[in-house]
Amino acid sequence: MNTDLAGNQQIIEIIYLIASVLFILSLKWMSSPATAQRGVRAGEIGMVLAIAGTLLHHGIVDYKWIAIALVLGSGIGIPLGMVHMTAVPQRTALSHAFGAFCVTLVGTAEFYLRTPNVPRFMMAVLSMEVILGSLTFTGSLMAAGKLQEILPQRPLTYKGQNFVNLSLLGASVAIAVYLVIHPEAHQLFPVMIAVPLLFGVLMIVPIGGADMPTVISLLNSYAGLSAAAMGFVVDSKLLIIAGALDGSSGLILSIIMSKAMNRSFTNVLFGAFGQVQPAAVAGQEEKTVRSATAEEAAGILAAANKVVIVPGYGMAVAQAQHKVRELYDALTKRGVDVRFAIHPVAGRMPGHMNVLLAEADIPYDRLIEMDDINGDFPQTDVALVIGANDVTNPAARTDTGSPIFGMPILDVDKARTVMVIKRGMSPGFAGIDNPLYYLDKTLMLFGDAKAFVNSIVHELSGNTH
Ligand code: NDP
Repeated sequence: MNTDLAGNQQIIEIIYLIASVLFILSLKWMSSPATAQRGVRAGEIGMVLAIAGTLLHHGIVDYKWIAIALVLGSGIGIPLGMVHMTAVPQRTALSHAFGAFCVTLVGTAEFYLRTPNVPRFMMAVLSMEVILGSLTFTGSLMAAGKLQEILPQRPLTYKGQNFVNLSLLGASVAIAVYLVIHPEAHQLFPVMIAVPLLFGVLMIVPIGGADMPTVISLLNSYAGLSAAAMGFVVDSKLLIIAGALDGSSGLILSIIMSKAMNRSFTNVLFGAFGQVQPAAVAGQEEKTVRSATAEEAAGILAAANKVVIVPGYGMAVAQAQHKVRELYDALTKRGVDVRFAIHPVAGRMPGHMNVLLAEADIPYDRLIEMDDINGDFPQTDVALVIGANDVTNPAARTDTGSPIFGMPILDVDKARTVMVIKRGMSPGFAGIDNPLYYLDKTLMLFGDAKAFVNSIVHELSGNTH
């Protein structure tokens, strides 16, 4: 019997080891568009192995509740996995909320199973687990609600807000420290969960929709850390490894995103960024723009030698990437050199543009990162901006009063001609006007990205006959 158990445990450990290796490889492969699909597969196989290994656990005496949970989880997970690409940030936030909720429940169950004899180290990791789990749960729900526009996107601020929030966080930590010293004070445990639950809500209230993807990535990191703490509590090396990977990659991603927007963490968390600037919107009425038709745009593109296409959020919403591929083909066939300029935060999640353009089979070597392409704009005949706005806004370089001042941008205004496809004069996610549109060299191509690119492609194919 004991030999059976030991054998079983060995099999589980080997399965967990393979799963851990697959998780590490998965992250490595996902860092390049060329290997990203392999990375996703490796992560999926790793997760299936992790679940299978856990189901073999000798402690399980009844599979009934597990089967119900599997059916329920699949029932929620499958539709969640099928959301539109532009809804991925809020979908990710929901996944973090579920994960964090689960971590908090497990932590609570472990506490009440062990109390009153909870060793100090165990109490410390349990506290970390439930504090991070609770604040990530409500924080992620709030973030998803803001991005889905169920909740108001704009930052809501009041006097003394940061003091209130930091006091709540401080109170949770103080309760945790007290419980580590006096684990018998078990009546404080529910308070240690309730305070961070409230903190999670209040923490997100002053953060604008534009900063939400960065915050989600930060919450991802908290969820990972809480899972790693849970790994110590339930003695699972796999959870410790997966949680640490999740925690560190979430943090690295938040840093990359903050850098790309030239913002500090403090500014993201406390800066109340993302309110529409009324002055900027009002200013639009006085200035004039020049617009052009698809026929004129096709003529200019066909006469160019070097074209740089700048995709943004609008291309993603319009799902125009396949039409953009047709445009790329039509121009390349005419001998035009076409490249794509990729801004690290174009769209609504990191890598958004890479994923969409890869889906449309545009060669990776045509996708050029911001730092590598910016020097080429002065030698570019046409910069064709498709549904991008903030990431091309020259005010970030020149206007010290602009909320995006200092954010690195694509220098499209340095190209000989600029053409911008968008539906009207609405601002981008930062809610500010874009001086690019009023330059003499800029032509506005008003319309839906997919429909407009389609018209240009038609014009170009018409011109060949
Ligand atoms: P923006 O949000 O600045 O602008 C998108 C533009 O697309 C809008 O001006 C809109 O104008 C236009 N648009 C919308 N729908 C369509 C359509 N169907 N057809 C054509 N145009 C359309 O996008 P960017 O990609 O330039 O910038 C991303 C923003 O998101 C930045 O502010 C960035 O900081 C922020 N952000 C991004 C993150 C990321 O990880 N990618 C993370 C955090 C923040 P109109 O309505 O007139 O058509």
